[in-house]
Amino acid sequence: MKAAVRRVGRRLTLFIFGFLSYGACADVQRFDALIAQLDKGDVVLYDRVSAELFLKKLQQQLPPDDFVRESRMELERCLWLFSDKPEQGIIFADRYINDPRLANNYSYLSQYLQCRALHRSYQGSLTGQTADLQQAIALANKGEDKKSQAQALLQMAEVHSTRGQHADALMLLFRAYEFYSKIGHIAGINLTLESIATAYRRMGEFDKALEYLSVSERDYAQPNDKSRTAYILQQKAFVYAELGNTAGARQLLIEVHQIYSGLGEQSYALGVLVDRMWVINLEQKYAESLELAGKIDAQIAAFRQQNPDFSLYNEELFFLLKAEALAETGQHASAAPLFEKAEVLLKQEDNPRYMLRLQRAWARAQAKNNQFESAYQHLTLAESIEEQLNSQLKQQREALLRYQFDSELQSRKNDQLVAENLLSEQQVATLESAQRWQYIAIALFVVLALIALLYAISQIKRNRRLQLLAMTDELTQVANRRSILLYAEQTRYQALNEHNNWSLLLVDIDHFKQCNDTYGHEAGDDVLVAVAQAMQSVLRHVDKLGRSGGEEFLLVLPDTNAHSAHEVAERLRLAVAELTYATYPNLQITISIGVTQAGRQEEIKEVISRADAALYQAKAAGRNRVVLS
Ligand code: GH3
Ligand code: MG
Ligand code: MG
Repeated sequence: MKAAVRRVGRRLTLFIFGFLSYGACADVQRFDALIAQLDKGDVVLYDRVSAELFLKKLQQQLPPDDFVRESRMELERCLWLFSDKPEQGIIFADRYINDPRLANNYSYLSQYLQCRALHRSYQGSLTGQTADLQQAIALANKGEDKKSQAQALLQMAEVHSTRGQHADALMLLFRAYEFYSKIGHIAGINLTLESIATAYRRMGEFDKALEYLSVSERDYAQPNDKSRTAYILQQKAFVYAELGNTAGARQLLIEVHQIYSGLGEQSYALGVLVDRMWVINLEQKYAESLELAGKIDAQIAAFRQQNPDFSLYNEELFFLLKAEALAETGQHASAAPLFEKAEVLLKQEDNPRYMLRLQRAWARAQAKNNQFESAYQHLTLAESIEEQLNSQLKQQREALLRYQFDSELQSRKNDQLVAENLLSEQQVATLESAQRWQYIAIALFVVLALIALLYAISQIKRNRRLQLLAMTDELTQVANRRSILLYAEQTRYQALNEHNNWSLLLVDIDHFKQCNDTYGHEAGDDVLVAVAQAMQSVLRHVDKLGRSGGEEFLLVLPDTNAHSAHEVAERLRLAVAELTYATYPNLQITISIGVTQAGRQEEIKEVISRADAALYQAKAAGRNRVVLS
């Protein structure tokens, strides 16, 4: 378990560093460019030596008295330089976590907490690690920093994975994968794919595990990233071993060992030897296994000479495998204390998969040694662990299926929603365009209707004007001869129907020729207009005046008998006689009028001729008078 956490912990730091050229004096822009490349994952560092070199470059570009940039740089130091001394790493991280100047920098705080979580895992404190990670995730979410979110999720997934909660781990990993994909962080995507593969492997889903490892290897592995290649091959080896392909696993682990040795990663190289022991034990070649164990012990002793605190990261597995090999070769006395040591470590780390393996090997060893009772106890324990593991695995598989089903459902729902939105958007667009055309059509129609209406009105007006012109005397603006005769005809017809009387008047201006001769033709015209107006002004509105000839007028008086007509004629005569002319002060104009009441069956012609006769009498009698006939 520690092994797994360590591997991921180290790998988390891998893609944070890289090589870049740098200048001699501090340069903020260069510093930021270096950091940006780390953040985007454009720069990936492959080993600790390079990391130290890169930190030196950062240090050179770091501006003085710039706490925020300094803490960004120191974060890399925190992640990278304390893997062998986790307690110092924790103290280092605490300095920044507790610094009030970072209180609002959620992204950095989250990352320092992740660093502390990592060191806690090195110490074997799963609880401490979990608590730190929960805080780190919350802060990363608050800061909406996708990279921090992804990193924290990734580490948390590893915690779940070591607890056997593989489905939970996978769900977090899928989310981490999404975050990394959103920011295009290739190294992060890579790492996540590998962790997904590991989780699947631990669930016994070996095909899936190999599938994800291949994707990572094929699509994302960078040619220089030997460390990543080593990790992928190591994971593949585990899968091969689980599938019973021990020969393949062995070959791969030899390769991995070479890569780590080449990188100067002695501790990891040694860990891989332990993995090889695992495969050899599976092949039941215990003598070979013990030979390898001897080499590992010798190496550990050599490391301890340089560093007394040195311990193998997969120590518990080493004890277990060595104990197993010793027991299988009959060396029970040497095996027993190693079994016990392994059990203590595994209990601390709560790793049921390894514990199961230990209890089985132990039971086998004791049975071989005729200690049947304790063998039975170990076997019973193994069975209960297996049962627990199986039920946990079943739960995890169900949870995963549910999750996959849910996300499938969700993505289908999303697709459906997107499709529906698209459809309704299209419908709205179609509707809008239809509506636009409708508006245009309506507007066009209104304009056309208006034009038609205006045209019709103008036509009506024109017709009326024409009609009026046709019915009106141009000079005096009273009815013309045609119009007044028509009116006379209508009046006659109406009177006939309604048994009414009607009368007709003929008016002629006296000595008009003289007026023309004295004052001119224009003055004569003015007089004609004035006379017509004067007569019109004293008429009832049913009475109608028309100009029947040069200086002659004809009046039709409906519903009027001879007596009343005579009175009207007198009013007309007086009105004209009283006229004065501003331009011609001496001008005096009079009219003579012939009045007659129409007979019932009489034609208009007959009525006119009788009125004419009366007019003639009026002229003859001295003019300026009315004669009734
Ligand atoms: P009487 O009293 O007998 O009616 O004499 P009169 O001069 O009015 O009659 P007459 O028939 O001899 O003359 C009518 C004149 O009216 C002749 C003509 O020049 C004049 N006249 C007819 N129409 C018009 C017109 O439109 N404008 C003008 N200025 N004169 C007109
Ligand atoms: Mg006349
Ligand atoms: Mg006259």
